[in-house]
Amino acid sequence: MGRLAIMAAMPQELQTLLDAMPDETRVRRAGPDFWVGHWEGRELVVVLSGIGKVAAATTATLLLTEFQATQILFVGVAGGLGADVQVGDVVVATELLQHDMDASPLFPRFEIPGQGLSRLPTHTALSNAVAAAATQALATGSGRRTTHALDALATQRDARVHQGLIVSGDRFVSSASESTALRQALPDALAVEMEGAALAQVCHDFGVPFAVVRTISDRADDTAHVDFGRFIDEVARHVALDIVRGTLRHGS
Ligand code: SAH
Repeated sequence: MGRLAIMAAMPQELQTLLDAMPDETRVRRAGPDFWVGHWEGRELVVVLSGIGKVAAATTATLLLTEFQATQILFVGVAGGLGADVQVGDVVVATELLQHDMDASPLFPRFEIPGQGLSRLPTHTALSNAVAAAATQALATGSGRRTTHALDALATQRDARVHQGLIVSGDRFVSSASESTALRQALPDALAVEMEGAALAQVCHDFGVPFAVVRTISDRADDTAHVDFGRFIDEVARHVALDIVRGTLRHGS
């Protein structure tokens, strides 16, 4: 089955995964600490991706060249863009795009120069396994915490799993004007974050299967920063743990 790599965006998410792994050892390469071990009978390497596209691309490249990862799964949080994508929901990417890539007029806006592509697809079987694990996570334990723990932020309805376009850029999107502009330019974007499309480009170059899953921490508007840390502690790290466990148990 090879070695599955897990990239976590936040230290709290990384620590929660490490606490669950029985036997990890630390290996340091070019900055980040990589944790190599097993969980649920599978060989794993777990790492903090760092924030932003360059950090994610460097980390993904090291996972593939130094740690022989055969698949990569990114777990983290994101801002919701889709009209029905609410705080506490989970979005599993079917494709990723860099929303701040713009070499126009030389290339169409969003296109990666030289690649002839703007949207990079994720691995379907791995993404579907992750979506099934996310559905399970929200139906049992970790999802329910969203409504109890964060009354001020959570919506009244149960958390949902969405699959579709996630966009990435080197900006924390925290104003209504910015998220409205993104929605206008990319009407089918479900969520915005800062790393996924970089991982996608590296995996695309190496021909390695990958998936990206994000718990929605905010609506990428003027309140995006409110309770961000608390959301990770109380909700996102538990959902991430359940999703990784479910993906390992039920196939990937
Ligand atoms: N204040 C945070 C900063 C984290 S940056 C800190 O203390 O570390 C936000 C992280 O969450 C990034 O990894 C990004 O991928 C994701 N994210 C969540 N909401 C986002 C938004 N509205 N815009 C962009 N990225 C977002």
